[in-house]
Amino acid sequence: MKPTIEGETNVLSCRFGRGAADGLGKEIGRFIVTTMEIPWNLSKDRIGGTAEKVVHCQTMEIDWVDRELASLPSFDTVLAVGGGQAIDLGKYFAWKTGKRLVSVPTILSVDAFVTPASAIRKNHQVEYVGVASPDPLVIDYDLLRLAPNELNIAGVGDLLSNHTACKDWEIAHAVGKSEFPFKPESIDIGRDILKKIMDHTDDIRQCTDEGLQAIVDGYMRLNTVCLPNGHYRIEEGSEHYLFYELEERLGRPFIHGWIVGLGVYCMSRLQDNHGDEVTDFMKRVGLKYDPQVMEIKRDDLRAALLNLKAFVESRPKLWYTVINEKPIEPTWVDTILAGLVF
Ligand SMILES: [Zn+2]
Repeated sequence: MKPTIEGETNVLSCRFGRGAADGLGKEIGRFIVTTMEIPWNLSKDRIGGTAEKVVHCQTMEIDWVDRELASLPSFDTVLAVGGGQAIDLGKYFAWKTGKRLVSVPTILSVDAFVTPASAIRKNHQVEYVGVASPDPLVIDYDLLRLAPNELNIAGVGDLLSNHTACKDWEIAHAVGKSEFPFKPESIDIGRDILKKIMDHTDDIRQCTDEGLQAIVDGYMRLNTVCLPNGHYRIEEGSEHYLFYELEERLGRPFIHGWIVGLGVYCMSRLQDNHGDEVTDFMKRVGLKYDPQVMEIKRDDLRAALLNLKAFVESRPKLWYTVINEKPIEPTWVDTILAGLVF
């Protein structure tokens, strides 16, 4: 199946539907698997075949990843099965070895399965490296529904981020600080992607075929903008930067869509950008964003918000956002904390 979305995407071919992953392991030659324990146990009998090696992703820290790469047997295909890190590890191996990549997301909590670069970590700092495109991308609604609904609903997070990221780009442009040629038409599409997601609120909350596909389509459409532009400015901004700060501070991963949801909660308010409306949507669709579900303590979030400006200013690669533009005062932080559950 050709990608269902018009325009350039990172996806070379698609296999979407109920049972789409069934028997896959017998069709892709000699293969290695990048995965984690839970997704692999849920999917290996459906996928079938015999892997040359199954690599359970422990971390995306580059030292560990490169050691695993050096110990791979010979193979034809990298089969990436799981959530963001398992997919990122598969992309990294496919890029480094030049082999075919087949991606089977088992949750939709992050957009890793449609983006070309692999998110690795160096001393807990994220870096995007390489290019790898799934052939095919396998979206098996039945397999996805084996995961808790809340993890698929988390997929909305990286689309909701358009809300704050588009605004950040406008803020940067208004003060002559945009790192890229400003494209209002890209922002229009970014906002339309989010509107279409909001139109599917009930389907997404219930994880129907249509709801799951709406998330995948949103991601793929995002790429038709971001790949030609050469950057993800409409999808990534201040909401992700709060996540980077927290990840570095606490030294542990999060469910991506949830932590981005928390970022959207905080940064939409710093932007004076319809904070109550996006919060209402997160509640209706079932996207978790409260610190309590991610075991983030009040004092840690307070410290992260108060440090956020210094954090982004110490990282010249991060784009100009509302964090650079507006002061983050202790009284504002207290107001934000008061609206969240710890
Ligand atoms: Zn993201």
